[in-house]
Amino acid sequence: MSEELQKLQLQLNGINLKLLHLLSEQARTADEIVRIKEKQGISEADPIGVQQMVNELASHNPGPIDNDTVMRIFMEIFNAYPKKQQNEKKERKLLVSRSHKSEDTIIRVKHAEFGGTSHVTIAGPCSIESREQLLTVAAALKNAGVTVLRGGAFKPRTSPYEFQGLGVEGLKIMKEAADEIGMVSISEIMSPSQIDTAARYVDIFQIGARNMQNFELLKAVGQSGKPVLLKRGLSATLEEFILAAEYILYNGNNQVMLIERGIRTFEKWTRNTLDISAVPLLKQETHLPVLVDVSHSAGRKDILLSCAKAALAAGADGIMVEVHPNPQAALSDAKQQLNIDEFDTFWKGLRHSGLFKSTKP
Ligand code: PEP
Ligand code: MN
Repeated sequence: MSEELQKLQLQLNGINLKLLHLLSEQARTADEIVRIKEKQGISEADPIGVQQMVNELASHNPGPIDNDTVMRIFMEIFNAYPKKQQNEKKERKLLVSRSHKSEDTIIRVKHAEFGGTSHVTIAGPCSIESREQLLTVAAALKNAGVTVLRGGAFKPRTSPYEFQGLGVEGLKIMKEAADEIGMVSISEIMSPSQIDTAARYVDIFQIGARNMQNFELLKAVGQSGKPVLLKRGLSATLEEFILAAEYILYNGNNQVMLIERGIRTFEKWTRNTLDISAVPLLKQETHLPVLVDVSHSAGRKDILLSCAKAALAAGADGIMVEVHPNPQAALSDAKQQLNIDEFDTFWKGLRHSGLFKSTKP
């Protein structure tokens, strides 16, 4: 390189550096303006003001850059700040986010612990059908070392002609079984009007996939203070899922667990598609316990163990699986529920995989 060229190159580097410093100073000043405006309750977006600034700059353009280019460059610079500020704001504001709370939330319900050092298993029938049915399965699950008993009393069925659940009668059976056998209970509620009654009978409220964006329900369980297991909606993005959880925290309840239960895709060999990437992403983005419902994801029995292992390997805090004493006769989800022997095989497989961490027997 000639001496003259070298000199010019150095000069250019110096100008670039000066430009960078000026841009930094400009960004700090713009930030300061936004902060002052925020304090005064003035909206930061001011497209007319931005346009005026750009026009003013173009009118002082010394050349040789043409006016269009000058305007485009400055427009780009001015637009960069609000985007950055908006992203920071969104991040900062979410109560579910790691940036709000870096350490894991651990939810303790009686002797069960969600999000702690051991994995948790939630098992039980899809629907509570009778006292005998629930007690039989609860005894077998307790014997195997399962701590949390599930069973639906209010069932969100696709068809109004299908079994709708035993309602409050079912909740009473759930309480009796859980108390007698010594398990933590969980059951779905579908409307705010069910909260007070259900709170008397169950330890944890489940919000089902179909109600993930039932905002009135989310607000109401937020105010209830009971632990909540929130299922991912059938077609919900992870952003929508965590914003649904945000409703509950925003309304005063931080005892929220997230559960991936498969999403709708074109795939027909499974009932839903288990989105395993949801597990590390939700663990990364939120501080809440994250579980995986293998039964509703797969909708079939033969791959449950593989799905459960995948869930734990991906970092899930626990799993949910449907178990029924006589699945063929089940009033809902007959195809996907394990019988007690099948559960024992599943459970042994999971325990022997080395992936399941448990302090329980
Ligand atoms: C359930 O767990 O009983 C249930 C209905 O599942 P989902 O809401 O995930 O379909
Ligand atoms: Mn079910």
